[in-house]
Amino acid sequence: MSETRTTFGFNRTECACAECALNCRFISGYLIPTDLAAIADQLGFDNLLAFALENLLASPGATVMANGELFQIPTLVPARQANGACKFLTSDNRCAIHVVSPYGCSHFDVHQSNAEADERSLAGLSAIVREWVRGGLYARIWMVLHSTDLVALSSLEAKARLLRTLTELDEM
Ligand code: SF4
Repeated sequence: MSETRTTFGFNRTECACAECALNCRFISGYLIPTDLAAIADQLGFDNLLAFALENLLASPGATVMANGELFQIPTLVPARQANGACKFLTSDNRCAIHVVSPYGCSHFDVHQSNAEADERSLAGLSAIVREWVRGGLYARIWMVLHSTDLVALSSLEAKARLLRTLTELDEM
């Protein structure tokens, strides 16, 4: 029997409904530092930079408010297919790396309350902030990807692309 994956004390989610899968097509989830080795290992890479160059993008990340000030937390996210979907989304709308999918995917779904999602986000983004503060591998990989133009759309741009697609589908 397989054990439920737990991160920061939160159990992973399993929903693969159409609404949740929309995120895979438009706004894929972010990696936390421990996701790097887990996904690289699953894909057979023993070099994290080579893994990142082939599979990840540097995202502008999340904008958060703390102590009355806005902060930007840059994140690593999966690279995208030519159609904009996550590179790990299969043709039958499944995740090709489900077992080790990034924290930003595996621990969230659209059915959670805002409070639950916020609590999970705080834990994930705090781990990323710690990497930036200490100049950890996560931050250094982000800078390499960014400097080689392997960059993701901002979440605002990705949401706009999602809304445009939904509007076009509505008008058909
Ligand atoms: S890694 Fe998997 S769950 Fe996350 S966006 Fe890509 S396909 Fe979806």
